[in-house]
Amino acid sequence: MNIAVVGAGYVGLVTAVCFAEKGHRVTLVEIDRGKIRALRRGKSPIYEPGLEAAMRSAVAAGFLTFTTDMDAGVRDAEVVFLTVGTPPKPEGGADLSFLHRAAADIGKALRRYTVIVEKSTVPVATGASLARILERNIPVRTRGERLFDIVSNPEFLREGQAIGDSRRPDRVVIGVDSPRAEAVLQRLYRDFHAPLLVTSMKSAELIKHASNSFLALKISYINAVSRICELAGADVREVAEGMGLDRRIGRAFLDAGIGYGGSCFPKDVAAFAHAARELGYDFRLLREVERINRGQRRHALRKITRAAGGTLKGRTIAVLGLAFKPGTDDIRESPVLEILPELLRAGARVRAYDPRAMANVKRLLPRVRYARNAYDAVKGARVLFIATEWDEFTKLDLGRVKRLMRAPVIVDGRNCLEPEAVRKQGFVYLGIGR
Ligand code: NAD
Repeated sequence: MNIAVVGAGYVGLVTAVCFAEKGHRVTLVEIDRGKIRALRRGKSPIYEPGLEAAMRSAVAAGFLTFTTDMDAGVRDAEVVFLTVGTPPKPEGGADLSFLHRAAADIGKALRRYTVIVEKSTVPVATGASLARILERNIPVRTRGERLFDIVSNPEFLREGQAIGDSRRPDRVVIGVDSPRAEAVLQRLYRDFHAPLLVTSMKSAELIKHASNSFLALKISYINAVSRICELAGADVREVAEGMGLDRRIGRAFLDAGIGYGGSCFPKDVAAFAHAARELGYDFRLLREVERINRGQRRHALRKITRAAGGTLKGRTIAVLGLAFKPGTDDIRESPVLEILPELLRAGARVRAYDPRAMANVKRLLPRVRYARNAYDAVKGARVLFIATEWDEFTKLDLGRVKRLMRAPVIVDGRNCLEPEAVRKQGFVYLGIGR
């Protein structure tokens, strides 16, 4: 098929590459000229394991091209995927302006029947508003014929594993109210051999918000349990292990730490609560999920202060990890972005290291000293704070770390080290909930 993907971000680029790998002719449309220039040079504007190589193969095979010209991208497409950002507005609702602008431009470019797929995460009933925008922008000469149907096809990929998730999705949700559009999407996803659920458009839109909010809730739940573990002298890892063996609960997303971040959970929880309120339901449970999450960041800060001897003034704190999770350079809503400025405000000297995300943080926090590697970061530090559980941080030579630090104290914000092993090396170890 001829496919257009609009928005070359984490979702759009991965989606485009994965459809191109299946032998479809994919045009990726992006407004940012810098990104298009990079893509044409074979460079991915984001870090995602395996993405750049897969992208180059798709381009070399002739199945993937890039453009800033919406008209050129959409003109011959049978299916257009909308994968632009839907960032949060100050009051919590989703900012749909990128989506609306893209829909208007697509409308102007439509010449024949095209399936428009809403892949961005959106509040329920957004599909209907997109249909109105498309309708308004269709050139007068073609009015009268049916030129498009809208389908909701939420994306569930995880950054850091996005290529694998897109090649082999757990499930594909198709929210559609038109049999013609459903047949097109069924055909497109046939090769992915994934369970396919067809629902109404509104249900599909809700599935995404409800899923992400539920995962965020699971994280906040275990974080609340971790606080009780600290008060009672239990170990939250053991509690999570025991809970997770129950198949009705499952072990995933029961890792206590400094809270969830990233470009999805914080914004989707807020947007879901906002959408619920607009519809007349006060989803207070989600406000509590957010409150617990924010509390974990303050809790980590208190732990670091305690570990530094009660004050941060003049203390050197090594921070390992800046990305919101391992395997990505994405720092959007990374919990550490709230913790770092607090450390600086309290007078600490911060030496930070992240294998992928440093360039993105440097622009925001120039007062932080950025180290060459983890060992360079811990030099002279009173406290080592682990904020992202990158593999390389779990495999540190602790003997070397101890020799380099001023005091052997580790605050493990992700519970990624084994407390006993760390203590045996002569460290003071503070985890979360253990
Ligand atoms: P992103 O910010 O990385 O990428 C969006 C891209 O769209 C940007 O490159 C931007 O320049 C481009 N864009 C904006 N307006 C455009 C227009 N009119 N025409 C062409 N390009 C345009 O965003 P993302 O992380 O890929 O997320 C996209 C959507 O997918 C969001 O709704 C998000 O909630 C959802 N989602 C994201 C993830 C994830 O892990 N990142 C997972 C599932 C769903």
